Amino acid sequence: MVPGNKSGQLLRRASGCLAGVAVGDALGGPLEGYSTEQIATQFVQLREMTGGGYKELAPGDTSDDTAHTRILAESVAACGRLDPSDLARRLADWYRYDGFGIGCHTESVLSRIAGGEDWEQAALEVQAAKPDSAGNGSLMRCSAVALLRHAEPELLIDESRLSSRVTHPHSYCQWSCVFVDLLLARLLTGDNPSASFDAVFAYCSNREDFPLPVLERAARARSPRSGDNLNPSGYVLDSLECALWALLNHRSFEQTLIAAVNLGGDADTIGSIAGALAGTAYGLHAIPGRWLVHVSGWPQLQDLAADIIKIS
Ligand SMILES: [Mg+2]
Repeated sequence: MVPGNKSGQLLRRASGCLAGVAVGDALGGPLEGYSTEQIATQFVQLREMTGGGYKELAPGDTSDDTAHTRILAESVAACGRLDPSDLARRLADWYRYDGFGIGCHTESVLSRIAGGEDWEQAALEVQAAKPDSAGNGSLMRCSAVALLRHAEPELLIDESRLSSRVTHPHSYCQWSCVFVDLLLARLLTGDNPSASFDAVFAYCSNREDFPLPVLERAARARSPRSGDNLNPSGYVLDSLECALWALLNHRSFEQTLIAAVNLGGDADTIGSIAGALAGTAYGLHAIPGRWLVHVSGWPQLQDLAADIIKIS
């Protein structure tokens, strides 16, 4: 059956979401760890899938951002819901057999889970040892929850938080996932980025349980400005602000992604988060073919997106 206009749009946006993560990861990978000065000297502005960088990537190579997004999407597609034990098992398997690009905090948690520890105990113990640790490791992978629960905000909120708690129980991490998943859900149904952002921001502002620092960062991203004062670090609130800024201050998938990754720093992860947002806002067909051809895993992500939309 040929999908109708509305379901066709939903599918194109859901596919754009997951493929956008992989494209942002691959585009930003060569700039990971670079300052804006280094980027200006070496690339002027990176606009193509060049490969290279500190990890000596081939053009189109992806890392943990794409792997964890795929794993969460596979888990959700298989279970029909966010099952934290299933997600933890799949992430621990990835850690055992691949692990490319893993961050320190995530490695501490997944090594314990891979060693047989319960996921919740592992995540809470690692958090207790470093109470302020709040990296972007759960934010980069959370988008499949939005695809599954786009029409059910309370379930979306519960499962976005739960998806974060498997490795990143810090409240800023949990609620950054909620904000981005609510925004993705809104973008899936066709609102433009500014209108979607404003609706989600108002909704979150009215909740008593929503942490103020997450809202403050989102509000800063909304004000129009250049990227000069942004800090593209792996701290979850920095990454959230950078990705939202890129979405809200640019008008196409291509412009959004170029702006996001050329901030440098944690460029692959910020590119991935911006890629999910812009891929959803503009749809799969807006992703430049000259980028997509280098990213080998995107057809699989497209199929996963379709599977999740089918059960949503
Ligand atoms: Mg990475």
